[in-house]
Amino acid sequence: MNLRPSDTEQLNAWKRVIIPDDRDLYKIDHYLAHGGYKALKKALEMKPEEVIDEVKRSNLRGRGGACFPTGLKWSFMPKNFDKPKYLCVNGDESEPGTFKDRQIFEYNPHLLIEGTLIACYAMGITTAYIYIRGEYGKWIKMLQKAIDDAYANGLVGEKILGTEFSTQVYIHRGAGAYICGEESSLMNSIEGERGYPRVKPPFPAQVGLWGCPTTINNVETISNIPVIISYGWEWYSKIGTAKHPGPILVGVSGHVNNPGVFEMPTGEPLLEIIYKRAGGVPGDKGIKAVIPGGSSTMILRGDQLEGIRMDAESLKTAGSSVGTAGIIVMDEDTDLIQVITRIAEFYYRESCGQCTPCREGTDWMFKILKRFQRYEAKKEDIDLLLDVANNIEGNTICALGDAAAWPVQSMIRNFRDEFEQRVQTSRFQEIVL
Ligand code: SF4
Repeated sequence: MNLRPSDTEQLNAWKRVIIPDDRDLYKIDHYLAHGGYKALKKALEMKPEEVIDEVKRSNLRGRGGACFPTGLKWSFMPKNFDKPKYLCVNGDESEPGTFKDRQIFEYNPHLLIEGTLIACYAMGITTAYIYIRGEYGKWIKMLQKAIDDAYANGLVGEKILGTEFSTQVYIHRGAGAYICGEESSLMNSIEGERGYPRVKPPFPAQVGLWGCPTTINNVETISNIPVIISYGWEWYSKIGTAKHPGPILVGVSGHVNNPGVFEMPTGEPLLEIIYKRAGGVPGDKGIKAVIPGGSSTMILRGDQLEGIRMDAESLKTAGSSVGTAGIIVMDEDTDLIQVITRIAEFYYRESCGQCTPCREGTDWMFKILKRFQRYEAKKEDIDLLLDVANNIEGNTICALGDAAAWPVQSMIRNFRDEFEQRVQTSRFQEIVL
């Protein structure tokens, strides 16, 4: 499979491995002719624990937002278990600003299927569900065609490649709820229940789908597996940064000349991504703010981007996170009150309502922000807004609470002047002052 630099010493001459230039890889004959499913064959010749060890040593970290080490997660699955075990591949991709997984469904679906099969083999799983948001009708059809082709070629189903290994792969279509991208509500959704997040512990590796051990991995994470098995952990772990290595799909949207999804080694400077890959800002305007990893990650100031790189460690040091690597660029003329009000409305509407701090808090934040938007806010509303966000963070069943609080907290921390300015121009200024 010609999906990597021909020379391991030439990592600078980066050649994409997750979404290569080749636009025919979605066709199974073409994929097979270019080395497709060889990683599966190689994995089936290894012991399952050797496959897990290879993934562990590669240092692959999940691409769905939490950056958890994938090999370690796999090792949590019980061995020699008498109940079924399941793999859920999370393609819900509902985070605003994130649109990378659909590129894999469209351009390299067999890489995902191959990775799914290797993961199942490594963890002793016989059923995998690929969960895709319902709005992705076109991509669901494309992936289903690829799965059907893989079945027809004996690559999925019973006695795969003539071995004793058998696995079924199904697509499960979501119904448009953001919360179903959270791993435990995703499992409830597959079970036909309401998409409510579950209280943890127990964790899915012990009690997951239908009470059985389950591993949940993101689509991009699973698509890295054939690459690791093909070329080895050592090669893979040298791509990008040491603590968060590998190729990463970065989506860039907002005020840029060339929006899109770009594959790169982790650790590329944010400014290079914005100016070199995404073509810079229209009209050569300055950058006021950047959301680096999808709407739930902490917002950064445009004048403080120097030195920040697209990897987990660098973004953590900068006070944000890599999230799902969906960069949203906002130019100097952006109304940030408008932006944060829209983000707050999104989380308010998508809250499942199970826990009070999230259900009530997202509503309060949205209402307070609407006062800013209507030029009706008072000075004390800034601290009230922060207080509500602080009381949501860390006090909820699932991460949606934090996802709602962080953008508000970081917006006030980094752009308090914008809120104060809005108060100064408030229609109630005289009453307030
Ligand atoms: Fe539901 Fe929000 Fe609680 Fe998550 S944090 S369980 S979305 S109410």
